[in-house]
Amino acid sequence: MAVKRLTGKLIDIGLLARNTYLLKIEFEEEVEFIPGQFVSMKVNDEGLRRSYSIASLPKGKEIELLVDIAPMGVGSKYILSLKKGDFMEFLCFLGKFTIDEESLMKDKILFVGTGAGIAPLKPMIEDLLNNKKYTGRVNLIWGMRHEDDLYWQEEFKDIQDRFGTFLAIRWPTDDFYLYDDISILQDIFPAVFSYLFEDKSIIENCKVEGATNSYNTSGVYVLNGIIYGGIDDHEPLFLSDN
Ligand SMILES: Cc1cc2nc3c(=O)[nH]c(=O)nc-3n(C[C@H](O)[C@H](O)[C@H](O)COP(=O)(O)OP(=O)(O)OC[C@H]3O[C@@H](n4cnc5c(N)ncnc54)[C@H](O)[C@@H]3O)c2cc1C
Repeated sequence: MAVKRLTGKLIDIGLLARNTYLLKIEFEEEVEFIPGQFVSMKVNDEGLRRSYSIASLPKGKEIELLVDIAPMGVGSKYILSLKKGDFMEFLCFLGKFTIDEESLMKDKILFVGTGAGIAPLKPMIEDLLNNKKYTGRVNLIWGMRHEDDLYWQEEFKDIQDRFGTFLAIRWPTDDFYLYDDISILQDIFPAVFSYLFEDKSIIENCKVEGATNSYNTSGVYVLNGIIYGGIDDHEPLFLSDN
């Protein structure tokens, strides 16, 4: 699908939790995208952009975006400056973080995300269960640092009740600091399993030395704000006005 430059009208904006806003945007035309894709939003007059995953399924002219404003950079401040009726500029629809045909053949799919990382996962899961009639097991592990940050509990409860395929999300407890020392991806899984099995020895015994080199992640690098590398080596992964 070709990338389009679209103008959308903000038809609703609301606070979901402490730092997280849900925006509803309406375009002039009906829009088609694959669950998991994102938009690149213009966030200032110089043409600076920030990417936001689409948090809803394709639904006529509307999309929803879930934005965590905690980083409080240009993008976050732009979101906070918006009011209903404002027009916003986007490059639509980008990204290959979608469910492929091969995954549909598997008998289970595990989704893991933290914070606003849930944004692309929710429509992907809804699409799997409601539209694609996927009959395998779907598990979601969604991590939040604080209980105040939680939202969409009713939405996930509804899916859990209907399909019974979701792992419960365990609320952080007072001893969350024990699990908070997560600096590399490998640390996440012992922490998650420690929560789920209520067994602190898992995180204490399963810490591994990081194999991640922070200067070179799978050959991906950033040059002038464009990310190169990955499966489309030397091709920009994200478009920019600059
Ligand atoms: C493909 C893609 C999809 C994305 N989807 C979403 C989404 O659905 N919802 C969403 O809220 N964000 C999403 N993001 C992140 C988003 O694009 C911005 O990076 C984020 O909103 C911060 O922008 P900013 O301009 O406010 O902060 P910046 O000016 O970019 O950063 C301000 C400061 O905060 C730090 N920072 C940036 N991001 C984080 C973070 N997540 N946690 C802690 N510190 C941080 C920066 O290092 C910097 O020091 C996505 C990013 C990508 C690449």
